[in-house]
Amino acid sequence: MQTTKYPLNWKKKDFSIKIFCSIPNIATGILIKASEALFVVDPGDGILRDLNKEIKPNEILKISDVFITHGHHDHIGGVWSLLTYMRVMNRKIPLNIHYPKGCVEIETIHGAFQKVYASSLSYKINLKMIDDKKSFRSKNVSIKPFPVIHKEYLQDGVATRQVPALGYNFSYDKMRICYGGDTAYCEELVKNAKNADLAIIEAGHEDDKNQDEIHMTTSEAKSIGETAKEYFLVHVPE
Ligand SMILES: [Zn+2]
Repeated sequence: MQTTKYPLNWKKKDFSIKIFCSIPNIATGILIKASEALFVVDPGDGILRDLNKEIKPNEILKISDVFITHGHHDHIGGVWSLLTYMRVMNRKIPLNIHYPKGCVEIETIHGAFQKVYASSLSYKINLKMIDDKKSFRSKNVSIKPFPVIHKEYLQDGVATRQVPALGYNFSYDKMRICYGGDTAYCEELVKNAKNADLAIIEAGHEDDKNQDEIHMTTSEAKSIGETAKEYFLVHVPE
């Protein structure tokens, strides 16, 4: 399988997205810009290094919202360093962290972070749990979450369970980016990716046959991506 060359960039007018990285079991990291608004999506390991290369420290401090698709380590591994950096740099404005209901990883990291730093924290962290498909706004962007199917193996390596997992639509100036996060083939993603200006679709399955409820095969991912105006296949095993 061909390796994806990161970073992946997409830009239309003043709406842009940069995917620094998206490798299963290693790391994901995404930055969205809509005019002045700066969002981070799935801050996996290395996000701080990548942001530091991409934007100035004062811009990192202006990131208003972090969006988490699910709690797997390759999507949230950089949360602690990002939060700590913002403290060290004396951030003043609040930071919103949006995450799916039941994502115990984010609540636990946040709890531990508060335990360590509450008395010396210069900024407020708003944990925004998402429990429905209602759209909301932040800055000049409309965000619409949608549930996806993403399972993980239990200890026996055979049985699986669904993890709290979301995809997100980011709409700005009549353009829409749809990011499915980690997901198996599912109707919600089919519906949401359709006609998006950019769809970011995972193709995390090890081979291109045997479907499962964890990741999509390349052909499944392409069949969805092709219904959008443009698409990236990401999260391909390397
Ligand atoms: Zn995952």
